[in-house]
Amino acid sequence: MIVGAGPAGADLAWRLASGGADVVLVDRLADLTRAAFSSAALPMAAVREHHLPEAVIAARWHGWQLMGPGSQRRLWMADEPLGAVLDFGALRQWLAQRAAAAGARLRLGWCCEGWEPMAAGARVWLRGPDGQRSVWQPRWLVDATGQQRALLGDPVHPADRLVAGVGVEWLLQVDSQSWRRWGDQLSFMLGSDWVPQGYGWVFPMQPGVLKLGICRLQDPARPQPPLQGLLLQLQRRLELTEATVFDRHGGLVRSSIRRREPHQRGPLLGLGDAVSTANLLGGEGIRHAFSSSAALAPLLLGALAGDAEGLRSYPRRLRRRFGWRWSLSGRLAERTWLGLRSPEADRRLERLLGGLEACNAEDLSALLFNYRFERYGLRALPYALGWR
Ligand SMILES: Cc1cc2nc3c(=O)[nH]c(=O)nc-3n(C[C@H](O)[C@H](O)[C@H](O)COP(=O)(O)OP(=O)(O)OC[C@H]3O[C@@H](n4cnc5c(N)ncnc54)[C@H](O)[C@@H]3O)c2cc1C
Repeated sequence: MIVGAGPAGADLAWRLASGGADVVLVDRLADLTRAAFSSAALPMAAVREHHLPEAVIAARWHGWQLMGPGSQRRLWMADEPLGAVLDFGALRQWLAQRAAAAGARLRLGWCCEGWEPMAAGARVWLRGPDGQRSVWQPRWLVDATGQQRALLGDPVHPADRLVAGVGVEWLLQVDSQSWRRWGDQLSFMLGSDWVPQGYGWVFPMQPGVLKLGICRLQDPARPQPPLQGLLLQLQRRLELTEATVFDRHGGLVRSSIRRREPHQRGPLLGLGDAVSTANLLGGEGIRHAFSSSAALAPLLLGALAGDAEGLRSYPRRLRRRFGWRWSLSGRLAERTWLGLRSPEADRRLERLLGGLEACNAEDLSALLFNYRFERYGLRALPYALGWR
């Protein structure tokens, strides 16, 4: 049984069902096209690797625009598309339909209320759309409930503390002039006068539709201004106040920096954001959720065939897949975003961004999506490691 039909859970359900397993995929959402909280930008390589169909692609983008600190504006464009912005609701729907076509049973509108280990497997309590209750006894249970970790719970060891970013995003219907201005690149607004301890963005969706959002790391050490006010300010400064806001959504991204938290408790395994596969640097996790499913699927199929020992290698395999740059990017994220709240921090960021001017758009993608800090002249490394 897989609880959570986000990118991680629905992809795993497809892989397991395709491998001949009897799979039940549960989500509390009755309609997976609703509550589409994610901005869902990703690089072209991920679109190709996961064979994502046209139906889930809202827009393709060709470059990066970094605005700030202050009124600075830098633009890097490429001839070929560098990535896509997905329709997150359509993506979830397509993934779930693909899993069902492979033989997985879908239970949409069902919420997992609890579980306990049994001699051979788990006992799971579900509540249905009309309040009806049902008890299941799967051999293996997967927590794919995203950052909520509804079954695994938050890690208890202080070294595995979760760093959280909260994001709010609006969908804007814009005129053709605004669409031309913002429609071909991912734009980020950086600096403490734009969004203290975070960043803002404008992404293209379907023609005439933009995503305007902000994300900020939560800082337990100090009060932070309400996000709503910051988003309104962003809308004003970007001259997007004439646009019609027709959807508002948001959510949390929560991950540990080192990714050393337990990935398994008896018959329960964690997947996707539930085991910190969301990267904090760009608040990005869809392709990493797929990676976790690709790592777990063969091990679970092995366990269903009687080799449960193989599951022990799951966290190690996942760490190997993410590589040494992963925790570095997490440390860089925490340091950069939490520290971004003073003119001094803005000046440091300005120096970092100035160093990027010699890059081309593809280099910037390699830096931000593959965490290739060394390409950028190793200058970011000591900063990330806390030596400067
Ligand atoms: C504002 C915002 C912007 C983002 N932008 C990007 C981006 O541009 N690019 C990118 O790659 N990533 C982005 N992300 C992150 C990305 O969306 C996640 O990393 C990704 O969705 C994780 O997939 P998942 O399957 O692990 O979890 P989720 O997508 O969170 O799926 C979890 C599922 O579990 C279900 N569930 C939860 N609890 C229960 C329960 N008790 N019973 C039954 N079902 C339950 C939920 O309904 C949900 O469908 C963003 C996130 C946020 C919040």
